[in-house]
Amino acid sequence: MTIPDDHPRRESLLSRQKIVDAQAAGLLADSALIAHGRGEAFDYLIGERTTDSAKRAEMEALDRLFRAKSPVISMNGNTTVLAGREAICLAALTNSSVEINIFYRTEDRMRLLLSEIHNMKDYVMENPPSDEIESERWRDMVKSVKIHGENPDAKIPHLKGPRALCSSQGIFRADVILVPLEDGDRCEALVSMGKEVIVIDLNPLSRTSTTASVTIVDEVKRAMERMVIMALEGPLNSNSDWDNRAALVDALNEIGRSTKLLSS
Ligand code: ATP
Repeated sequence: MTIPDDHPRRESLLSRQKIVDAQAAGLLADSALIAHGRGEAFDYLIGERTTDSAKRAEMEALDRLFRAKSPVISMNGNTTVLAGREAICLAALTNSSVEINIFYRTEDRMRLLLSEIHNMKDYVMENPPSDEIESERWRDMVKSVKIHGENPDAKIPHLKGPRALCSSQGIFRADVILVPLEDGDRCEALVSMGKEVIVIDLNPLSRTSTTASVTIVDEVKRAMERMVIMALEGPLNSNSDWDNRAALVDALNEIGRSTKLLSS
């Protein structure tokens, strides 16, 4: 598909094509297209940009990842396809591990996604996010990012079926977990386990968004890219008294403002 460079919705159309191609290649369940479409609709309303309230949430999320003892970035199929490289960079910079954890788990899909994320890790190792990082140091940082998911040996309590599965060394023992595009039930179950749950979800009204400890209402690739740039500066040491409900209200107000129906 050829999309002109000056097409106003170029990024969105490229992401859509990535999802379509990955689904055809067997990396994603059919429902992944529906979830993506729901995200696109909200992104359209937000104006396909990172709002000020999302920037604040990204800063808060980063601060929590830096302060965590066992931070984990949980990757589903869509997130791996859209922002896998950014997630690996973020994991390297915040000392997090990565877990491939999908809702509709099949052995084939897990094998394909794990191979995809390992290829991305190899790519990221040779391509630091900034010229200022020394190559050898960057390689070591990326090498130390653990990828979990191959042998799930633990279960998230109160969930039934394959979606309860996780790794004892990854999600199960994490104190802070970044789960882009999570499902409401699982988000609730992770919060009940006492974890700080950071989500990236374009829908500020989803059960996931309203249940999480920190909700980033932004597109997953944009959010991760920004967090990588911020993480290059090191820990932020912000002392914010985070109010997630207020952040969601801000996000809804920003939607109103981008549609120009409400005054700014
Ligand atoms: P919940 O169970 O939390 O109420 P849901 O059933 O609406 O959620 P799903 O269909 O499981 O949600 O997941 C899709 C969610 O991910 C939607 O809320 C959608 O807005 C969001 N989403 C989809 N694509 C993206 C993306 N690229 N970036 C950020 N969020 C996205």
